[in-house]
Amino acid sequence: MPGYDLHTHTTFSDGTTTPEDNVRLALEAGLEGLGVTDHDTVASWGRARAAAHGTELEIVPGAELSAEHGGYSVHVLGYWFDPAHPQLAAEIDRLRNERERRAEEIVLRLQELGVGVTIERVRELAGAAPVGRPHIAAAVVEVGAAADAGEVFDRWLHDGGPAYVPKYAVSPERCVDLIVAAGGVAVLAHPALYGPSDGEGARTGVADDVIARMAARGLAGIEAAHPDHEPGEREHYLRLAADLGLVVTGGSDFHGDRKDLALGEVTTHRERVEALRGRRPSGGSLPRPSPSTPTRHTG
Ligand code: AMP
Ligand code: FE
Ligand code: FE
Ligand code: ZN
Repeated sequence: MPGYDLHTHTTFSDGTTTPEDNVRLALEAGLEGLGVTDHDTVASWGRARAAAHGTELEIVPGAELSAEHGGYSVHVLGYWFDPAHPQLAAEIDRLRNERERRAEEIVLRLQELGVGVTIERVRELAGAAPVGRPHIAAAVVEVGAAADAGEVFDRWLHDGGPAYVPKYAVSPERCVDLIVAAGGVAVLAHPALYGPSDGEGARTGVADDVIARMAARGLAGIEAAHPDHEPGEREHYLRLAADLGLVVTGGSDFHGDRKDLALGEVTTHRERVEALRGRRPSGGSLPRPSPSTPTRHTG
């Protein structure tokens, strides 16, 4: 059963493989489709489409947007949206600019803690990508202050850690609104991975009432199948999806060498991709801005 891998990263965010690498890996795995979902950017779409041109592989253009609720991250996947939609484009710009400022702040904190890392080197390592903690961790490893990125996260960069700075994020509801307004479909990524702590260190996932509110705003799907979801967690989100009328999706969240798994390891059946596609506003045509829609940038 080939299917679609609807969640992958490239060097345009914090993956270590290029869009061309991912297309090749998807073809080798015999996939029908590949979701291109870098964090807070659409910069990888062009190269992925060019690499897949003339093959049977369908590129599903997307992005993984950074939302936040109650102090924890909520990642929202958007697919098939118009990247030129003013409000969405402004929000993506802002997410990216705020990441730059935050990286500077994290580097300052690391320097205060005696880690001799520089923002210039972090920027070089990020290249074209919106800068993230994995790039900072790589720079710290380079100067020999830690053996690997895992140690950097454990000592300094984990959520709430000594050099941690939260990043600017929108609310999950606004994220859904923006994707829908731009003619796309919104899918909640790996819902079990982040959420309030239960006080004993166990993860609880994105609160069900938050998911229900997102569904009321037009959330189309939920990524119940993810490599880091336990079977029980997947079952929970399958039930929730049935209750809320959401399409269930799956993806590998491939990050190249940064994670030990293969592209295509988790996939979505084509029928579900079609169900998702069918949830596009106005039956799949790109939205025309209505007269009442403000067209100026808000961010
Ligand atoms: P950022 O978007 O800058 O907050 O960075 C988030 C990324 O850092 C995630 O997508 C993961 O790839 C990585 N990450 C988060 N927590 C850890 C951790 N404890 N160990 C290793 N990588 C992590
Ligand atoms: Fe990532
Ligand atoms: Fe994510
Ligand atoms: Zn991801």
